[in-house]
Amino acid sequence: MSCDFTRFAAAGVQTLKPYEPGKSIEELERELGLQQAIKLASNENPLGPSPRAVDAVREHVIHAARYPDGNGSKLKQKLAQRHGVAEACITLGNGSNDILELIARVFLTSDTAAIFSQHAFAVYPIVTQAVGATARVAAANPPDHGMPFGHDLNAMTSMLDDTTRVVFIANPNNPTGTWLTEKSLQSFIKSIPETVLIVVDEAYWDYVREPEYPNAIDWLEQFPNLIVTRTFSKIYGLAGVRLGFGISHPEVANLLNRVRQPFNVNSLAQKAALAALDDEDHVHRSQMVNAKGLRQLAVACSERGLSFIPSVGNFVCIDVGQPAMRVYQLLLQRGIIVRPVENYGFPNHLRVTVGTHEQNRSVIEALDRVLLEA
Ligand SMILES: *Cc1c(COP(=O)(O)O)cnc(C)c1O
Repeated sequence: MSCDFTRFAAAGVQTLKPYEPGKSIEELERELGLQQAIKLASNENPLGPSPRAVDAVREHVIHAARYPDGNGSKLKQKLAQRHGVAEACITLGNGSNDILELIARVFLTSDTAAIFSQHAFAVYPIVTQAVGATARVAAANPPDHGMPFGHDLNAMTSMLDDTTRVVFIANPNNPTGTWLTEKSLQSFIKSIPETVLIVVDEAYWDYVREPEYPNAIDWLEQFPNLIVTRTFSKIYGLAGVRLGFGISHPEVANLLNRVRQPFNVNSLAQKAALAALDDEDHVHRSQMVNAKGLRQLAVACSERGLSFIPSVGNFVCIDVGQPAMRVYQLLLQRGIIVRPVENYGFPNHLRVTVGTHEQNRSVIEALDRVLLEA
């Protein structure tokens, strides 16, 4: 039976290329009939979630017949306290992707535009196109820049016009791992008209150790057109339970809350997040493992003459000096999953998530073998 519903889909959806997630461990193990594959493809925490979060989920699952607290009151209260903001400033999401999508649904229409950088996080173009808005992509820093491939804020400013409603900035950015200083980002925000919502995506905030790296939450009082997004998917190791949040002016939060699903954050996620916030040791350990792992990968690349984009996140993009898709496939055959980033404009790079010391060593060893073959 034929079906021609594509022509009835919203214009943006007709040509939309869906997000490509990293390959799952289960899928690869099934395909190759092997066990103990290593996945360093989705910037997940190699230490897993806090044991306290695991216990909280286990204890609460017996209440799964009940709907979650649709307002997420306890979690909002805790987050508000932690970040020194009013509860009314917080919007909870089914992952921070949910928040990005809510922003697009509320503020973007077919006669408006969003600005983001070349090589920026793939979800920005997707949510923009899905609602039929125009994406204006600012050229990134050139390869020989001090922050190669990073956001060029002047280029972003130059794309502003009367139709601009949203600017998306990831600090640090994924997949590049590049970042913006307090001074540059703050003066950029100051220069943007108050009618434009500025989204500062801080998914990797807890990993960054640079002294000049800002916490954009500190600026919310100053800029009513700022929204900062954070997630439990990265340092908290809870990517599978889906929880993120936005912090903004209460009026912006109120608008986002009008369109979100009434129960967009499930009850297990809420319990897990509450417990995870109490486990500062786990966050600290995760930061240490990441800092060491970043160094380990950087040293290994330098020793081999492989260039990479200097990253402050929990991942690094390595230039394998040839089409990376082939290297990716050869690594898969050795049970190692990393991320090709051709879709981000990097056909010769692979993005490798920082794993444990052993995982990092395995990926380096496998890369050595594969680059000999390739
Ligand atoms: C991983 C990531 C997120 C987090 O997405 P969730 O929906 O919270 O899992 C957000 N922004 C960027 C730039 C990311 O890399």
